Amino acid sequence: MSMIKCISPVNGEVYAERPAMPLDMAKQVVSRARQAQKTWARRPLDERVNLVLAGVARLNEMVDEVVPELAWQMGRPVRYGGEFKGFNERSNYVATIAADALKPLVIEESDRFERRIAREPHGVVFVVAPWNYPYMTAINTVAPALMAGNTVIIKHASQTILVGERMVRAFVEAGVPADVFQNIFLDHETTAALIAARSFDFVNFTGSVEGGRSIERAAAGTFTGLGLELGGKDPGYVMDDADLDAAVDTLMDGATYNSGQCCCGIERIYVHEKLYDAFVEKSVAWVSNYKLGNPLDPETTLGPMANKRFAATVREQIADAVAKGAKALIDPKLFPADDRGAYLAPQILVNVDHSMAFMREETFGPAVGIMKVKSDSQAIELMNDSQYGLTASLWTRDAERAARIGADIETGTVFMNRADYLDPALCWTGVKETGRGGSLSVIGFQNLTRPKSYHLKKVTA
Ligand code: NAP
Repeated sequence: MSMIKCISPVNGEVYAERPAMPLDMAKQVVSRARQAQKTWARRPLDERVNLVLAGVARLNEMVDEVVPELAWQMGRPVRYGGEFKGFNERSNYVATIAADALKPLVIEESDRFERRIAREPHGVVFVVAPWNYPYMTAINTVAPALMAGNTVIIKHASQTILVGERMVRAFVEAGVPADVFQNIFLDHETTAALIAARSFDFVNFTGSVEGGRSIERAAAGTFTGLGLELGGKDPGYVMDDADLDAAVDTLMDGATYNSGQCCCGIERIYVHEKLYDAFVEKSVAWVSNYKLGNPLDPETTLGPMANKRFAATVREQIADAVAKGAKALIDPKLFPADDRGAYLAPQILVNVDHSMAFMREETFGPAVGIMKVKSDSQAIELMNDSQYGLTASLWTRDAERAARIGADIETGTVFMNRADYLDPALCWTGVKETGRGGSLSVIGFQNLTRPKSYHLKKVTA
């Protein structure tokens, strides 16, 4: 039996390992989920919602274990306390809208006819989750899927192998029936084989573009519904009337928090020439304040990247850009913990352009490129010059200008004067190679259910 291993970025050693489940055993897990689904869906919505919230509460009680476990698995500094804030906010919000989001659309209710469109759970939902925000990305689908009456099977990333197991343990301890929410340890081949065998009624995949392509290939011809939440290369645009300090603070945080490993992290910034020099100077000062080090040390504000191979990609992109004329503004000597491995100093590059992979491909590290622009139209052209389309962050005091520019930007979300945040009331979605579908909000519930039309004629004449 092959083992799935989490190599800790803290010390490069195996932190946890679990046996990969063979296909026949995995099919039994699916079969149990399918058998449990109808009974689960028949329970009143309130009961399902309350059980999910009880699972969330139980996980919160595990905070003392969860926080260091996350640091060991993917390097998030313990001082940030895990990701409970967003995890709880999203769960609580979807709970408040579940009844409305799932209620039938009544077209006619008369003596002659009852015509309505109801929402039915898909059946068995499969969640394939990434390591970068392992709890928050998973809960986006797990909570509404369960509330809507689906059963859920989660397969978590190797880097955060313990997260699916822990979530399921919390939910089951809180009263969610064991077959309603199950964790599974799978290699890629078995994952694809299960999907290709039409085991699931809906698959939500959050991860890389390449991973998304593999899932789409595996599902081809099965008609399985797919939600694909993939990579990004999110831009910021600082206009001439922006609040400079607020822009620096939010955009630098968006570029570097979680060591830059956020799907909607800021990876490239375009600044109006009027503010460019000041923005760059303040950004360098902001980033230089980080303390890179062991994530278990409460003083550490910037942990290692989750894996030294992710850091190697960032280093390669930086080296390539510098070889092509970019200038690196952060002296790595300021960050003695940089070990040329997983521990990576943050970086700001200027003199960058779109011929460089650093400005085009997902970097997914604590490094950002800043370019000077002269006009809104130039900024729009550069922001759209990307294969990705998750979010864009616009900085201005003029909401009309932001809305006008927003209409021309090819992304799933347009922010004004904020960045790097998922509002659970809004749909989380992307365009181009960032994928398709949408989670959270009313639309998230719609995507985890299917419409069913009832056309009931009450009279025969
Ligand atoms: P990843 O390598 O694609 O992995 C994501 C998940 O898919 C993991 O559970 C992984 O398992 C599994 N997986 C990958 N390739 C697979 C394949 N061929 N067949 C079956 N399963 C496969 O992505 P990641 O490195 O974990 O996450 C980072 C990426 O996710 C970034 O590109 C980021 O932008 C994106 N992301 C997007 C969003 C969004 O909302 N759009 C949110 C968060 C992250 P293993 O770990 O075992 O390989």
